[in-house]
Amino acid sequence: MEWKGIRGQVLKNVAMKRYTSMKVGGPARYMVYPVDHADLAKVIGIAEDKGVARRFLGNGTNVIVGDRGLDDAIIRMTKVRQMHFRKTAEGAVAEVAGGTSLARFIRESVERGLAGLEKLYGIPGTVGGAIKMNAGSFGVQISEHLRSVTYMDGLKRIGERQRQACGFGYRTSGFTSSEIILSGLFELHDGDKARLKKEMERVRAERWKKHPMEFPSAGSVFKNIGGNPAWTYIDKVGLRGFRIGDACISEKHPNFIVNLGNATAADVVSLIRKVKKEVYEQVGVRMEEEVELWGCDG
Ligand SMILES: Cc1cc2nc3c(=O)[nH]c(=O)nc-3n(C[C@H](O)[C@H](O)[C@H](O)COP(=O)(O)OP(=O)(O)OC[C@H]3O[C@@H](n4cnc5c(N)ncnc54)[C@H](O)[C@@H]3O)c2cc1C
Repeated sequence: MEWKGIRGQVLKNVAMKRYTSMKVGGPARYMVYPVDHADLAKVIGIAEDKGVARRFLGNGTNVIVGDRGLDDAIIRMTKVRQMHFRKTAEGAVAEVAGGTSLARFIRESVERGLAGLEKLYGIPGTVGGAIKMNAGSFGVQISEHLRSVTYMDGLKRIGERQRQACGFGYRTSGFTSSEIILSGLFELHDGDKARLKKEMERVRAERWKKHPMEFPSAGSVFKNIGGNPAWTYIDKVGLRGFRIGDACISEKHPNFIVNLGNATAADVVSLIRKVKKEVYEQVGVRMEEEVELWGCDG
């Protein structure tokens, strides 16, 4: 298939294990990097005309792709990385492109003495991915500091939603799979740069202490349940350290599945199913995935 007139890069048959933090997954038919919004609209149009399904990928830190791969076009805005800060009476508003690294945005904000997001430091991935997932850590969720989100829908129309209309909940938002987040407008307030830097370092150190950062993973696999940490259920049913192939429930933090080297998506998915089954049978609780499974059925 031809992607005529696209100015960005188009890759074919890309191994998704190279583009996801879990490091599993077969080939995706196409991976496309639009260079701007007009290019993105063209990509969406061509995919639509040719009947190729689309998926939007940030840094792939919350998705697990199946071993057979995906017959889709994976669209990534990660070549469009922009941040614009504008001073306000209380601090600043920052307009940040969806493909920008969240960590880079937070570092830049703190460098400017702007507070709000420092507790999210260390969450891997892009600003777009974090908005879509309403990422959060240490009691803060990214949506709390958003004023509005600009997105493109499946009909290539650009729209803006105020925070209240974005449908944010715990690790979820109302953006559909055919809407791509182009940018977020953040409200930040003035803070003490030295103190903010210290806080960033503190949360990063906490992560390294609690999470198995030394292995590939997709972060927390399951959502917490009614305020109870998901790992407590996994621990309760005795699955800490349980292993299928090279996929293993982390000893350090049982809500992480780590790839010990050569795990397949099938290993990871089998572990997820095992956890759900044991927790339901032994405790009567249904665990819900926080990670997204792409093409993992069958
Ligand atoms: C070691 C580790 C630690 C983690 N810790 C945390 C944590 O503390 N808190 C937390 O919340 N998460 C955590 N995560 C999970 C993950 O990093 C977050 O969910 C992150 O925000 C995902 O960003 P991403 O760019 O990688 O998104 P991806 O994984 O690429 O995509 C995730 C979802 O967002 C969609 N998406 C991505 N970009 C866009 C876009 N521009 N427009 C529309 N949709 C888009 C994708 O289609 C998909 O549905 C962790 C992951 C790892 C590996």
